[in-house]
Amino acid sequence: MIPYGKHSIVDADIEAVVDVLENHNITQGSKVIAFEIALAKYCQSNHCVTTNSGSSALHVACLAAGVEKGDLVWTVPNSFVASANCAVQCGADVDFVDIDAETRNVDVNLLEQKLLQAEVTGRLPKVVVVVHFSGLSCEMQKIWQLAKRYGFYVIEDAAHALGAQYQGHPVGSCKFSHMTILSFHPVKTITSAEGGAVTCNDPVIHRKLKLYANIGITRDHGLFVGQHFEPWVYEQQVLGCNYRLSDVHAVLGLSQLQRVRELVSARTGWVAKYFEHLTDLPLKLPVVDNENPSAWHLFVVEVLQHDRLETFNKLRDLGVGVNVHYIPIHTQPFYQGLGFKWGDFPVAEQYYQNAITLPLFPTMSESQFEHVISSLRKVLT
Ligand SMILES: *Cc1c(COP(=O)(O)O)cnc(C)c1O
Repeated sequence: MIPYGKHSIVDADIEAVVDVLENHNITQGSKVIAFEIALAKYCQSNHCVTTNSGSSALHVACLAAGVEKGDLVWTVPNSFVASANCAVQCGADVDFVDIDAETRNVDVNLLEQKLLQAEVTGRLPKVVVVVHFSGLSCEMQKIWQLAKRYGFYVIEDAAHALGAQYQGHPVGSCKFSHMTILSFHPVKTITSAEGGAVTCNDPVIHRKLKLYANIGITRDHGLFVGQHFEPWVYEQQVLGCNYRLSDVHAVLGLSQLQRVRELVSARTGWVAKYFEHLTDLPLKLPVVDNENPSAWHLFVVEVLQHDRLETFNKLRDLGVGVNVHYIPIHTQPFYQGLGFKWGDFPVAEQYYQNAITLPLFPTMSESQFEHVISSLRKVLT
C-alpha cells in the first residue's frame, strides 16, 4: 500500500541520534536549545519553544494566551481535533468558523461577520486558532486587522505549513499573529518522531510558553517571585505540564531541518506532476497561490460525479493508501456532546463529503506516482 504520507530519514539523521545517545544528555541538554534556535532562525521569529507534540504546543499556546474557564476560543471545523481540544483543555468554550470552499482555510468574511455579532452579544473570542490547511497560509493580514480591532490573540496552527510562505515571510515568523505552532509528527514537513514547537516574537509570551511547557517551574533566579539565596531553589509559579521535547527527538528534528527546503521542493515537484496528470479527470484540484507558496503537506482532491466512498475503497483495493482530511471536528461525538451537530458548518461538511487525500511525500518514487495516476484513471473513467 502506498501511504498518503511518510517520513524521509537519511544517514545523517541516524548518526545525529546515535551521537546523542552515546555522547550527550538525552533530555534537557544542548540539542533542545540548538533546535529551538535553528527553528527560530528558519522561521524568522524572535523565539521558539519546543514541545513533545503539536497538540501540546497548541495547549501551551492557549495557556500562554491566558485562556481559562469562561473564555471563548474559535477555530475551524476542517482540522485535526487538536486545534479545538487545546481550548477545552484550558476549560474554555469552543466555537467554529466555517471554511472557504476554495482554500479550505478559515473564511475571513464569515470570521468578520461572526465577530460583528459577537461584539453585539458581548461574547468575543479570546483566541482564534487559524489552520493553514494542507500547507497553504490563511489570509493572515486580514485576520491580523480583525485581531487588532476586536482584541483577540491569533494562534496559527502551522502543523501542515513549515516551509510555506506568506507575503514573502516564512510561516512561523508571527508577522501577523501572536504565536505559531508546528508539529514534527512523521507525516509533516520534518519529523522528530513526535514533537512540536511554538514560535513567537513577544518575550513575555516566550517566558510563559517555557513555564507552562515545563510543569510551571522556573530555575531562573531573575524570574523568582520570592527572595531565595539557596542555590538549589526552583519555583513552581503556575500549573503547567511536562511537555518537554527530549534531546533524542530534538536532534532528529535539528538534523531534518537542515533538509527542509529540499523536502518541501520534493513535495512541490510531485504536486506539479499531479496537476499535469489530473486535469482531465472529474476531480476538483486544490488552489495554487503562487504569491504565497504552500508547503504541500497534503494533496486533497474532491471527487466529482462519482461516489466518494466507492472511489476511496476502489483506490485502497488497488494499493493506493488514500486518506480523508478532515472529518469536521464539530461532528465528533465529543463535540456533539458539547452541543454541536451536523449542519452547523455546511461548507466544511460539503467539502468533507467529497474529499480524498492522495499520496504525497518526498520519497515517493516515479513508479509509485505512476501507479497512483493509473489507478485514478481506472476508477474515475
Ligand atoms: C498534526 C496536527 C496537529 C497536532 O500535531 P501532533 O504533533 O500530532 O500532536 C495539530 N493540528 C493539525 C492541523 C495537524 O495536522
